[in-house]
Amino acid sequence: MKQKLLISACLCGKNTKYNGKNNKIPNLEVLENFYDLILVCPEVMGGLSTPRDPSEIKGDLVLSNRGKNVTEYFKSGAYQTLEIALKYNVEIALLKESSPSCGVHTIYDGSFTGKKIAGMGITAELLRNNGIKVYSEDEIDILLH
Ligand code: SF4
Repeated sequence: MKQKLLISACLCGKNTKYNGKNNKIPNLEVLENFYDLILVCPEVMGGLSTPRDPSEIKGDLVLSNRGKNVTEYFKSGAYQTLEIALKYNVEIALLKESSPSCGVHTIYDGSFTGKKIAGMGITAELLRNNGIKVYSEDEIDILLH
């Protein structure tokens, strides 16, 4: 039986991004040879529509570019994602870098100017804090060995 891998839905070509597009990775088929993929999009699961206004983390909050506090949507999506991970005994996740939900090493700095800082998205951090190894799509090679 293949190992289970929780993965950001947008990396699999699902149009769940804030702008209604996706971030499909080129080597998705190779990944599927190694793993059973469990697709999640925390922002959609949390109740946000697609397309939606872009959001960034600012301190303890997640704010849209119009200043709307969307923190609860992000938290709800994160906890639902964790629930799925625990239900299926998932040990590893491959998540979209820099997203305010899925970012593993970097996030945008909250100024909506495109500047990135070190940090994690709400979901990525919750998964990591619950013992799940989280990788970004830039680290996919680690999962293919
Ligand atoms: Fe992709 Fe994660 Fe954003 Fe959903 S929340 S669109 S899975 S980066």
